[in-house]
Amino acid sequence: MRIPLIAGNWKMNKTIGEALELAKALHYGLQYPEATKLEIVVAPPYTVLNKVAEFLKDSFIGVSAQDLFWEDSGAFTGAISAPMIKDAGAEYVIIGHSERRQLFNETDASVNKKIKAALKASLIPIFCVGETLQEREAGKVNAVIGTQFSGGLESLTTEDMAKMVIAYEPVWAIGTGKTATPEQAEEVHSMIRKMLVEKFGQTTADIVRVLYGGSVKPSNSKELLSQPNIDGALVGGASLKAEDFVGIIKNAI
Ligand code: PEP
Repeated sequence: MRIPLIAGNWKMNKTIGEALELAKALHYGLQYPEATKLEIVVAPPYTVLNKVAEFLKDSFIGVSAQDLFWEDSGAFTGAISAPMIKDAGAEYVIIGHSERRQLFNETDASVNKKIKAALKASLIPIFCVGETLQEREAGKVNAVIGTQFSGGLESLTTEDMAKMVIAYEPVWAIGTGKTATPEQAEEVHSMIRKMLVEKFGQTTADIVRVLYGGSVKPSNSKELLSQPNIDGALVGGASLKAEDFVGIIKNAI
């Protein structure tokens, strides 16, 4: 059985004070029974990663980084490595988010190097894939996801894959208020599950969680999360307000 995972991507938001306020509101807004049925993760920016991880250390909320650079250390100005993220207290790292792909020229090859660096440091990669509106309208959803999947996961073993999480995030649904319908999302999630079976075998495919991301909010999360191949959500905007994030979490139970 796959335990649902609800992850909040705070993106480039929250000062130290604001981040701690949100972490506190989440911690005190969630009850223990909810936590036993789900995994909950927040991904603050690097500047508050350690502070949030320290605050949530004994809670049931895990912490993720939003990206990493694949080298461990050295002359890479502005970059943050997997061992540094691990040291700051995170257990997860988002890799290949569409904003990284579009705004920072991330490729499938760089995503693959980042996934390998994360696994080497015992971080759990949340590997993002998704098509643009243009690609969807051109009937290329399967081809685009297939290319991102095989490029990003190149030469990974079954054991590697079993430790990972995938997030399907249609680019046209991120931050736009447009959500994929539960049927549209389920169609892609079941295709991703088939790709997992083909590349890594049924046992691994059965345990890897595939999250949906793209304008998830309390009002649409229940239907999305009830689809058989949707194992949780990667939430952007709605994860910045404790009330909304808690609402999504409650809908996942
Ligand atoms: C995201 O950035 O991962 C995301 C899904 O954003 P939003 O929920 O704001 O669409």
